[in-house]
Amino acid sequence: MSSKFDVVVIGGGPAGYVAAIRAAQNGLSTACIDAWLTPEGKPSLGGTCLNAGCIPSKALLESSELLHRARHEFTAHGIRLAGVELDLQAMQARKAAIVAQLCAGIQGLFKANGVTALAGHGHLLPGNKVRFTPADGEPRLLEAGNVVLATGSTPTALPSLPFDGERIVDSAGALAFDAVPRRLGVIGAGVIGLELGSVWRRLGAEVVVLEAMDRFLFMADGQIAKEAERQFRRQGLDIHLGAKVQSGERTAGGVRLRYEDRQGSHDIEVDKVVVAVGRRPWTEGLLDPLAGVTVDARGFIEVDAHCRTTAAGVWAIGDVVRGPMLAHKGSEEGVMVADLIAGRYGHMNYGIIPSVIYTTPEIAWVGRTEEELGQAGITYKSGTFNFAASGRAKAMDQAAGLVKVLADAGSDELLGVHVCGPMAGELIAEAVVAMEFQGTAEDLQRTIHAHPTLAEAVHEAALSVDRRAIHAINR
Ligand code: FAD
Ligand code: AMP
Repeated sequence: MSSKFDVVVIGGGPAGYVAAIRAAQNGLSTACIDAWLTPEGKPSLGGTCLNAGCIPSKALLESSELLHRARHEFTAHGIRLAGVELDLQAMQARKAAIVAQLCAGIQGLFKANGVTALAGHGHLLPGNKVRFTPADGEPRLLEAGNVVLATGSTPTALPSLPFDGERIVDSAGALAFDAVPRRLGVIGAGVIGLELGSVWRRLGAEVVVLEAMDRFLFMADGQIAKEAERQFRRQGLDIHLGAKVQSGERTAGGVRLRYEDRQGSHDIEVDKVVVAVGRRPWTEGLLDPLAGVTVDARGFIEVDAHCRTTAAGVWAIGDVVRGPMLAHKGSEEGVMVADLIAGRYGHMNYGIIPSVIYTTPEIAWVGRTEEELGQAGITYKSGTFNFAASGRAKAMDQAAGLVKVLADAGSDELLGVHVCGPMAGELIAEAVVAMEFQGTAEDLQRTIHAHPTLAEAVHEAALSVDRRAIHAINR
């Protein structure tokens, strides 16, 4: 096998594998080095996203939601089920099968596109050379025209509560529990904490969520966050805001957590705890100090707007660089970089990256929140529509929540769209396209939406921007 490539990508997650495929599509000889090993010690492409992130979490969210609905919501549809039982082993096996299929799928895509997959560790040397160390072999030197660093991120630990892989776990551990904890502590009410807390709550655990910030989902639009918090509390998630976890210790049967809030210091006991306080970029063992790649104070590889690092011919994408830690952000950076390397046009619109939280209610948004617009002094118009008035949402028995559309008061250009309710992650795609085309609220108003669909709620919210909603009283 050749040791010379036009492009060597280090990291086979959604940033790296997409960059590799696009580079190969562009006619460049490409290799992708990835170090991920399954618990059985087998190489598995797809990075955190496929192996221990987006995909397994969505599999368990879907399964646990079905169980919850079978237990609590089917009777409203006139369906009576007796003896509904959880088979957690089967649920976990289904999750594992989905992950295995999708990871193998990337292997297939590499083959079809002519990308050389190299299982092992990559280390960047000066002069665009890469030392590749296979899991079970001697290191080899690769020469590359361009190198793309896509080594992702790893969970942040709390120093006073180190992971033990059993009772004090990270997100990967919480995706793999083989029994439902009686009482689960979740530290951090971010996307990952809420998704994992929801899974185990629906499967029967008591779930206590401790969040340091005073405001729930501080990154989301305030009105949307409020509605979501109300619904989560109704589901029995015991959410404590302004609660900063200070320390924890293992007890005879679980973990005692100490947190501080405005009232003082509190101790709670849980069987297990998921630490979901964020993720940090992963560059361990990646960079030769003479390679010329700079890392910032928080550990992110420094890049410009086109993901060029400080070393010529070396690029970095995905979670290991600034910006939201989202799979689709990394993938799009991968496309941009592979196109730029091939001498094509490449661009990222960082202002229009959708965010989705796959809980019930599902929460999704793109663009700016009312709070951000207010702080920036931008005058805007706001329109909302409640799913309570959506025929489709009613038929689905999921008529809680709302859509909010924010548009510039002068130009009518869309500035933000926020959804809290059924299929929010799917509904937001329409808003992303509209905003990518610099669309206006009127563009959405004049677009025909099929009836009865959830998308009509987006249409009505856009109409409501100008107080012209048909199925709501305009105030
Ligand atoms: P990664 O996916 O982390 O991939 C990096 C790869 O590089 C890994 O395989 C790693 O082993 C490999 N690697 C590292 N160093 C080296 C080296 N030196 N040599 C060779 N290989 C190396 N995002 C979403 O958009 N939607 C979601 O629904 C979502 N859900 C999530 C749920 C959970 C529980 C978690 C933890 C994350 C979730 N994310 C989600 C975030 C998403 O997983 C990440 O943003 C995404 O995986 C980042 O992609 P990446 O390619 O930059 O890095
Ligand atoms: P995210 O970065 O979206 O995954 O969210 C992580 C969340 O964890 C943030 O909302 C933080 O405020 C929260 N967090 C961080 N440290 C602590 C802590 N010690 N106790 C409670 N919450 C924390």
